[in-house]
Amino acid sequence: MNSTTPLGDGTRAVRAGLPEPVPYEPPLPGPVFAAHFHLPGEPTGPYTYGRDSNPTWTRLERAIGELEAPGEQVETVCFASGMAAISAVVFSQLRAGDTVVLPVDGYQALPLIAERLRAFGVEVRTAPTGGDAQLSVLDGARLLWIESPSNPGLDVCDIRRLADAAHTAGALVAVDNTLATPLGQRPLALGADFSVASDTKGTTGHGDLLLGHVTCRDAARAAEVRDWRKVAGAIPGPMESWLAHRSLATVQLRIDRQCANALALARALGDRSEVSGLRHPGLPTDPSHSLASRQMRRYGSVVSFVLPDRAHAERFLETLRLVDDATSFGGVRSSAERRGRWGGDAVPEGFVRFSAGVEDPEDLVADVLRALDEAAAG
Ligand code: PLP
Repeated sequence: MNSTTPLGDGTRAVRAGLPEPVPYEPPLPGPVFAAHFHLPGEPTGPYTYGRDSNPTWTRLERAIGELEAPGEQVETVCFASGMAAISAVVFSQLRAGDTVVLPVDGYQALPLIAERLRAFGVEVRTAPTGGDAQLSVLDGARLLWIESPSNPGLDVCDIRRLADAAHTAGALVAVDNTLATPLGQRPLALGADFSVASDTKGTTGHGDLLLGHVTCRDAARAAEVRDWRKVAGAIPGPMESWLAHRSLATVQLRIDRQCANALALARALGDRSEVSGLRHPGLPTDPSHSLASRQMRRYGSVVSFVLPDRAHAERFLETLRLVDDATSFGGVRSSAERRGRWGGDAVPEGFVRFSAGVEDPEDLVADVLRALDEAAAG
């Protein structure tokens, strides 16, 4: 192979963050459980106290950085959850008197963040993700928060366009990349200052841990985010960090299958008369498809659609055999939920968010079509 040929995502994923081989040591060293490290004299070494640093985090952070921005010098900071990562960016970057622009249709905990920001004297403006509507409220902003595709509505905005406009207006740009994962979209290459994600979802993909991360090019910004982690103490456990790193080896296999399953499902749902509001950025008929094709490398594992009413959606979910009625998304086992049950999203009662797993596509589609038939029969 030509040494300048870039490695494929799968090749990079299985090697990401691994240390140089050491004879008789495992390729991925086990989790380091330590509240403190031997520390004679001045505390200048890399590992001092377990809330500041841990070698298991270091390896995971390198691995995620290699997937976020292959071949580039970036810094990644891992957190105990996606919300801890989001909070770290928001609360390390904003001060009283600043203005932040949030999506109005993003993850349902964003309004909780907005409430706290307002209490701290930060002006919060919101606009929808679709149509790049956040452009119209950027004036004087300090931080633009983008979520594309948005959860759960799956709208897409032009990240490059918004980032350029925000930078011109003097604002920093953060992108919540949870739905896409680092393999599906590279926010830093599209102009973002911070790529943020809940790795609870597709990046780790097994539904058995919570984790989040922030990646940035600017070392000073990364230091501010890392400093916030130290202050808030929202640190990932070594076991979770190690499990996450182990899971990264299969990220390309999982995501490729999940994206293919999501598209197969979306196509099948498109033929059903009881289904409306069908959204998946990979569907050629989706309003976001052409934009998503330009800025995404994979379209994600989530499909959203609306069944006629709440009872119809509940019958559908109860009747599924291969799909868990559960929240969250991006896992190896398909799951779906009636999103309206939480009360936080502006969605119809029959709105279903479906997360495609790695099942055989024909089994998954057959199960969904059978459940739709049974739900329609009442
Ligand atoms: N961002 C998005 C888009 C999410 O969907 C979620 C959780 O569902 C989060 C952030 C928060 O992640 P976590 O649950 O890991 O804190």
